[in-house]
Amino acid sequence: MKNGVTIALSKGRILEDSLPLLRRVGIVPNEDPTESRRLVLDTNEPGVRLVIVRATDVPTYVRYGAADIGFAGKDVLLESGDGELYELFDLGIARCRLVVAEPRREDGAGHAPIRPRVATKYPNIAHRFFAARGVQADIVKLYGSMELAPIVGLADRIVDLVSSGRTLQANGLVEVDQITPVSAWLVANKAAMKLKHEAITSIMGRLELAVRA
Ligand code: ADP
Ligand code: MG
Repeated sequence: MKNGVTIALSKGRILEDSLPLLRRVGIVPNEDPTESRRLVLDTNEPGVRLVIVRATDVPTYVRYGAADIGFAGKDVLLESGDGELYELFDLGIARCRLVVAEPRREDGAGHAPIRPRVATKYPNIAHRFFAARGVQADIVKLYGSMELAPIVGLADRIVDLVSSGRTLQANGLVEVDQITPVSAWLVANKAAMKLKHEAITSIMGRLELAVRA
């Protein structure tokens, strides 16, 4: 966008943490995005607007300059990042972790198939993780409800986000490896960073202070 700063936010879990953080730096949307069906929202701050997109789409909007900056999950950045945007700093919100989980075994017997089938929304991360350990995994790409896959025999393991661990537990799964901690990062379009330097660094600086506080 020509003038002002457009911020891409995710629907879902990140949004719940994003709005309070923005409020702390003085940016308040004119309508509540958790209630409104509107996907573009003006804010109290002239020139600053929000676009509400799917979590996996935030890097795409920012990369193409449809948004100047965005709040993107580290999971999404690791899965699809290509260095085409700036990952500025950790916002410390929407914290969880990316883990490998498998069915809990009552007999305690080890179960490590030579070529495990792994169900995940994160095929690239999963492939890299297993390859680095010399394990050739067959990756099954899913878009949700990964926890179901081992129950119905679709996969031996899953790679998924966990926060409390309750969903794993409810489905008889145990965490066997942590791949990485995850949180939302501030990302920026490279060209916008030059062209709208003042406006972006102002928001960036305020966010950084709020995050450190
Ligand atoms: P979707 O179902 O569209 O993938 P989610 O709301 O489940 O959306 O996830 C969006 C983003 O929120 C994820 O990419 C991740 O960065 C973050 N996230 C997901 N699950 C959790 C969680 N349990 N705790 C904190 N953050 C999470
Ligand atoms: Mg989800």
